[in-house]
Amino acid sequence: MKSYRKELWFHVPTRRAFINITPQVEECLRESGVREGLVLVNAMHITASVFINDDEPGLHYDFEQWLEGLAPHEPVSRYRHNRTGEDNADAHLKRQIMGREVVVAVTNGRLDFGPWEQIFYGEFDGRRAKRVLVKIIGE
Ligand code: ZN
Repeated sequence: MKSYRKELWFHVPTRRAFINITPQVEECLRESGVREGLVLVNAMHITASVFINDDEPGLHYDFEQWLEGLAPHEPVSRYRHNRTGEDNADAHLKRQIMGREVVVAVTNGRLDFGPWEQIFYGEFDGRRAKRVLVKIIGE
């Protein structure tokens, strides 16, 4: 069995963003040489997500509005976590809703997606360097 590991680094200049990381994951898959197996992609930080959905700007706007309605960034004083001196309680909550990781099947050397599926990095507390782990196992 082959095993491959890589960390992808992101430094988002804004507090929040959604980034399509499918090309980077496909590059990892090429490097791994795996033809049949599984790809795990997970955020390595508790204020960021990895999720699968549509690469459609209107939907990304809707996600942003929906998440801000569930867990508004401000007022930061509304969150007990922020009493630690941080201001990112909302980012922890947004990450929990959008998820930590995805697993994608690898079939015949390709990511075996359903229609319109793409992999996204969801940043909720950016403006610093953060990592995503890609782990690939298979034959
Ligand atoms: Zn925090």
